[in-house]
Amino acid sequence: MSNRNTTFVKTEGEQIPVVADCDVVVVGAGPAGHAAAISASRNGASVTLLERYHHLGGMASGGMVLVLDDMVNEGNEVVTTGIVSEFVERMEKQDAAVYPPSEDCQTNSEMWQKWSRWGCIDFHKAMMPQPIIHAVAFDPDGWKRVSLDMVREAKINLRTHSWFSDVLREGGKITGVISQTKLGRQAVRAKYIVDGTGDLDVGVAAGADYIDGQFIVTTVFRMANVDTEKAIDFQFSQPEEYKKLDREARRRIGGAWGMWWLKTPIPGVVWCNCPHMPGYDGLSVESMVESECEGRDRMMRLYNFAKKNIPGFENAAMLGAAEQMGIRQTRMLQGEYVVTKDDVKSRRHFETSVCRGRDYYTPYGALLPKAIDNLIVAGRHYSVESDAQKMSREIPPCQAQGEAAGIAVALALNSDQALRDVDYKAIQKQMRAQGADPGDEPSANALCENNIAAE
Ligand SMILES: Cc1cc2nc3c(=O)[nH]c(=O)nc-3n(C[C@H](O)[C@H](O)[C@H](O)COP(=O)(O)OP(=O)(O)OC[C@H]3O[C@@H](n4cnc5c(N)ncnc54)[C@H](O)[C@@H]3O)c2cc1C
Repeated sequence: MSNRNTTFVKTEGEQIPVVADCDVVVVGAGPAGHAAAISASRNGASVTLLERYHHLGGMASGGMVLVLDDMVNEGNEVVTTGIVSEFVERMEKQDAAVYPPSEDCQTNSEMWQKWSRWGCIDFHKAMMPQPIIHAVAFDPDGWKRVSLDMVREAKINLRTHSWFSDVLREGGKITGVISQTKLGRQAVRAKYIVDGTGDLDVGVAAGADYIDGQFIVTTVFRMANVDTEKAIDFQFSQPEEYKKLDREARRRIGGAWGMWWLKTPIPGVVWCNCPHMPGYDGLSVESMVESECEGRDRMMRLYNFAKKNIPGFENAAMLGAAEQMGIRQTRMLQGEYVVTKDDVKSRRHFETSVCRGRDYYTPYGALLPKAIDNLIVAGRHYSVESDAQKMSREIPPCQAQGEAAGIAVALALNSDQALRDVDYKAIQKQMRAQGADPGDEPSANALCENNIAAE
């Protein structure tokens, strides 16, 4: 929001109650923040996890983003593991996750017909059929349950319904955070802080450098009572008729990826990762109200069309939009190292890599703000160029960043160090001990000749 033409008021100084004293406070319980909290706690830190909403999971649950992508490299090896794999296993036990067995991860029409409507495809490949790969379709409530189980098992002090509003400063040092709650403002004192807000809320309040970015926003929604097998059969048995109807469906929604509906672990319930709405600002109240109205209008246009015209959708019911608007990009840290589009595209390997997704590597310095000793970020607001973020912000790599950040704060705590002084090799070693891939060993296709020590 521009400050021009804005009227300001000043408020009186206030007494803020301290509701927790801990080693580490993590702000934001999305994929990245949650993983950071779990990882820090399992490495011995006392952790408080602060979240504005009543549920855990951020975009993965409240935002109903329901496929885990970017887990596999070009060589078909699964490279986001650790907490990511634990999530998949736990959700699978609750019938809340579906993915192709390794023998189905092939490139042919039979597997395409079987798995493409689960979203388990390599969407980076411009070919048809696209390869079937290890990607995971999951249920949003399953994600919430698993997140909560893990937090309770780790004995993390969970404070939902708490909206971060400022950092706490004592004697020139950042000593914790302040949140807004129904009972007024509350303070959490901590030695180290993890910003997992996705929008860099903590980093901005702490004075970190950042850039503003923007990408399409989406009111993701689901429909129930869809005869998915009938719809798939229609797609493959009457391809010309299907293409005509599909084109019209896309025109009504106004912007969607290759497949505008995907299957979910609940039979008959489909996930619609659309519409694509450009030009909205994920930080602005006015912009979000407008986009919510537009998204709901558009999804009803698609629903009415599909119900009347598309085989399999005759009895469809609108299950509703996600609780959270789908925001892909807002503010991004400009920290000790800024990941570029070229780094991601060329698969540049960094000696200091502490986590990875698909074929990209995240150096430790891309989680660290300049000149703030006890703050680290994890998630879609990490230190990255806008175009590079669009290619490296999927859920599993954000979880991997969180896992690495959690280890980093625990190591810093044990040796009473500034975060930037933590040895990246110690983070890599502990990532491996936790079953995660820090990206210390480059895949066969990585760009290694300019190996950069990017801290
Ligand atoms: C529509 C859409 C489709 C996508 N499709 C895919 C896909 O198919 N596969 C895939 O892997 N990825 C996909 N992504 C990307 C992925 O969902 C996100 O990049 C990822 O969830 C980012 O995780 P995060 O933890 O960094 O942020 P978020 O998921 O945004 O979590 C941030 C958390 O912080 C909390 N928070 C924020 N501000 C505050 C505050 N001030 N105080 C307290 N708490 C706060 C939020 O409530 C939230 O819980 C998609 C994203 C969108 C929007």
